[in-house]
Amino acid sequence: MDDKIKCACEHCTCMVETETAIKKNGSFYCDESCANGHVEKVGCGHENCNCS
Ligand SMILES: [Zn+2]
Ligand SMILES: [Zn+2]
Ligand SMILES: [Zn+2]
Repeated sequence: MDDKIKCACEHCTCMVETETAIKKNGSFYCDESCANGHVEKVGCGHENCNCS
Protein backbone atom coordinates (compact mmCIF):
# COMPACT_ATOMS: atom_id res chain seq x y z
CA MET A 1 0.00 0.00 0.00
CA ASP A 2 1.47 3.30 -0.95
CA ASP A 3 0.51 6.58 0.55
CA LYS A 4 1.15 9.02 -2.22
CA ILE A 5 -0.89 12.18 -2.22
CA LYS A 6 -0.91 15.22 -4.45
CA CYS A 7 1.34 18.07 -3.47
CA ALA A 8 -0.70 20.70 -1.66
CA CYS A 9 0.49 23.40 -4.05
CA GLU A 10 -2.53 24.34 -6.14
CA HIS A 11 -0.69 24.46 -9.43
CA CYS A 12 1.48 21.48 -8.79
CA THR A 13 0.66 18.10 -10.23
CA CYS A 14 3.34 16.16 -8.43
CA MET A 15 2.63 13.26 -6.15
CA VAL A 16 4.44 13.03 -2.85
CA GLU A 17 4.85 10.30 -0.30
CA THR A 18 3.74 11.38 3.13
CA GLU A 19 6.95 9.92 4.55
CA THR A 20 9.26 12.05 2.45
CA ALA A 21 7.11 15.08 1.74
CA ILE A 22 7.83 18.51 3.16
CA LYS A 23 5.20 19.14 5.78
CA LYS A 24 3.97 22.62 6.44
CA ASN A 25 0.81 23.76 8.18
CA GLY A 26 -0.59 20.26 8.03
CA SER A 27 -0.15 19.98 4.27
CA PHE A 28 2.29 17.96 2.26
CA TYR A 29 4.49 19.44 -0.43
CA CYS A 30 6.90 17.97 -2.95
CA ASP A 31 9.48 20.70 -2.62
CA GLU A 32 10.52 23.65 -0.48
CA SER A 33 9.49 26.06 -3.22
CA CYS A 34 5.95 24.69 -3.13
CA ALA A 35 5.87 24.77 0.65
CA ASN A 36 6.81 28.44 0.77
CA GLY A 37 4.26 29.43 -1.88
CA HIS A 38 6.83 30.07 -4.61
CA VAL A 39 7.84 33.41 -3.16
CA GLU A 40 11.03 33.21 -5.20
CA LYS A 41 9.10 32.30 -8.35
CA VAL A 42 10.96 29.07 -8.64
CA GLY A 43 9.13 25.92 -9.63
CA CYS A 44 9.54 22.63 -7.87
CA GLY A 45 11.82 21.53 -10.68
CA HIS A 46 10.03 18.30 -11.38
CA GLU A 47 9.47 17.18 -14.93
CA ASN A 48 6.24 18.30 -16.58
CA CYS A 49 5.42 20.63 -13.75
CA ASN A 50 5.26 24.39 -14.13
CA CYS A 51 3.82 25.38 -10.83
CA SER A 52 6.05 28.39 -10.25
ZN1 LIG B 1 5.52 20.11 -8.95
ZN1 LIG C 1 4.75 20.63 -5.47
ZN1 LIG D 1 4.32 24.21 -6.53
